[in-house]
Amino acid sequence: MGYQLSSREYQSQSSVVQVGAVTFGAHNLVVMAGPCTVEDEASLLQTALSVKASGAHVLRGGAFKTRTSHDSFQGFGETALRMLAKAREATGMPVVTEITDAGDLALIGRYAEIIQIGARNMQNTALLKAVGKCKYPVLLKRGFSNTIDEWLAAADYILAGGNEQVLLCERGIRTFENSTRFSLDILSIPVIKSRSHLPIIVDPSHAAGKRDLVGAVSKAAIAAGADGLLIEVDYNPRTAKVDGRQTITTEQFAELMPQLRAVSHAVGRELPSS
Ligand code: PEP
Ligand code: MN
Repeated sequence: MGYQLSSREYQSQSSVVQVGAVTFGAHNLVVMAGPCTVEDEASLLQTALSVKASGAHVLRGGAFKTRTSHDSFQGFGETALRMLAKAREATGMPVVTEITDAGDLALIGRYAEIIQIGARNMQNTALLKAVGKCKYPVLLKRGFSNTIDEWLAAADYILAGGNEQVLLCERGIRTFENSTRFSLDILSIPVIKSRSHLPIIVDPSHAAGKRDLVGAVSKAAIAAGADGLLIEVDYNPRTAKVDGRQTITTEQFAELMPQLRAVSHAVGRELPSS
């Protein structure tokens, strides 16, 4: 089957990943929110304070981006990491940010609590091996043209290095449908739950591609058994350099959170306020 360490056969008990006060893979759900890409300190802080007040548990924000085109904005790098650390200080929320180069691991580790591997790097085995040897929890996104088996095989690369803190993240796969940016594979949630002991997070934003679709699919993900969400939220997404169209506003996020809480209750989970 191509994977072993991430399988339920290998470990029947569900893995729990602890990041400071935030617990992934337990009864509670975790919501990670923030901009696709960090652009300036003031708007990041405004967004972070707002999502925290609405109940987000982790702050997301890109510093190093994996863009499809080489001439698209690639992120502000360490400058953005410093802004994330300031927002973390102001809100108390741990930070998740993407790594694109194994050489940046120590640098990112100084500023963030969770390392994200993007969809385009899911099978970058050098990167997987590098994060497998580090002490940070890793959010492993599913490649948009990869099967669930390949995704779990990628998770095995990290687990094989000795790092057991792996979070899977479904973010939509490529299909013939072009009304949305990708197709969220909602069934991957129960499939992962039955095949793997690892927590599964859903990123509704990259699948939807449009902000008005994000709420519906977030609720569906929780109903289907996801352990948490990674949502792109910005104080002013209309001016964002990256992924603004799929980024919900802080007001939309504030309206969505009580709805997510209600769905969580309906399926026997808790979405605690932060
Ligand atoms: C992101 O989280 O902003 C991102 C680039 O996501 P993905 O790797 O899923 O495309
Ligand atoms: Mn994005």
